[in-house]
Amino acid sequence: MSGGERLDFEIRPNPRPVAAAERAALLSNPGFGRIFTDHMVTIRYAEGKGWYDARVEPRGPIPMDPATAVLHYAQEIFEGLKAYRAADGGVILFRPEANARRFAASAARMAMAPLPEQVFLDSLHHLISIDREWVPHEDEASLYLRPFMYASEVFLGVKPASEYLYVLIASPVGSYFAGGIKPVTVWVSHEYTRAAPGGTGAAKCGGNYAASLVAQAEAIENGCEQVVFLDAVERRYVDELGGMNIFFVYEDGTLVTPPLTGAILPGITRDSVITLARDLGHEVVERPYSLQEWTADAASGRLREVFACGTAAVLTPIGTVRSRDGEFTVGDGSTGAVTAKLRQSLVDIQRGRAADPYGWVHRVL
Ligand SMILES: *Cc1c(COP(=O)(O)O)cnc(C)c1O
Repeated sequence: MSGGERLDFEIRPNPRPVAAAERAALLSNPGFGRIFTDHMVTIRYAEGKGWYDARVEPRGPIPMDPATAVLHYAQEIFEGLKAYRAADGGVILFRPEANARRFAASAARMAMAPLPEQVFLDSLHHLISIDREWVPHEDEASLYLRPFMYASEVFLGVKPASEYLYVLIASPVGSYFAGGIKPVTVWVSHEYTRAAPGGTGAAKCGGNYAASLVAQAEAIENGCEQVVFLDAVERRYVDELGGMNIFFVYEDGTLVTPPLTGAILPGITRDSVITLARDLGHEVVERPYSLQEWTADAASGRLREVFACGTAAVLTPIGTVRSRDGEFTVGDGSTGAVTAKLRQSLVDIQRGRAADPYGWVHRVL
């Protein structure tokens, strides 16, 4: 099967879905990534056969042979996007075709079979339709969708697998900032890097996260919430955080963000922020940005705001920057006006509350 083609999904409703009262209790305080809906999607791939057995079925464990390739050589990719409850009770997605495209690009980098983009989109529709009651109604809450795919072939030889399993699960999530938006303190790692030129930094693969965890642990030990990675060659330029891209806001309103060199994950939030900021009259420059420049311009006051961005937290202000060389504060350490404005503009489009001149919002129900 090639791009553009479709599959018929077999629907097997869960005979024992979570009762309405229990679901309501779970949805009242979902947290992040701990509770799940009643169903999942699975689709299989085999070389020579293509994609087959597309199913919506009760969510449950996936039996796995101990020689399954992913457990040994980590051929695995994933995506993350959210379904939002619209004011009229419907459900919307934000730029899902961008996630479909990135999923295919990640698959290509990891030598995996690409899932046709339309099949990826259809899988989202099917799961949201059957689990629609799990999309929260609260402001700032949403249904987090986690598509992923792994090498399911049972074989210990080192080569691209000939069989893959695509799975889609969903998890209701609450507001990322429970007590209102609060700037985070970040740790700049001089010891560890996340991705090197020619590596897998631009692919959304589990292995990148595995490689980032020791640095994230170091950040926590140093009283920071997140880690900032520097480039792997010179350890001079800012790449991104463990799971978020980064923007620097100057006194004249200019935004600077590191360019997509292949070592940085091309965030859909990053791309949306660039478009929105330009339309709001800001100049946006994609160029290498050094830690030295960050330190000096924060000290002089020319640099007014810094924020990180990604699907989970939308825009997160960065207040304090710490490293082995000491620490400094950006602006007065509080949430900046440009960060707040961009965040609100984006959230309003994502939730269908504002006009969408970009065609980003995709109605599901
Ligand atoms: C997913 C991810 C991002 C953010 O991407 P969005 O599409 O904006 O959610 C940034 N960096 C890394 C490493 C990621 O995995």
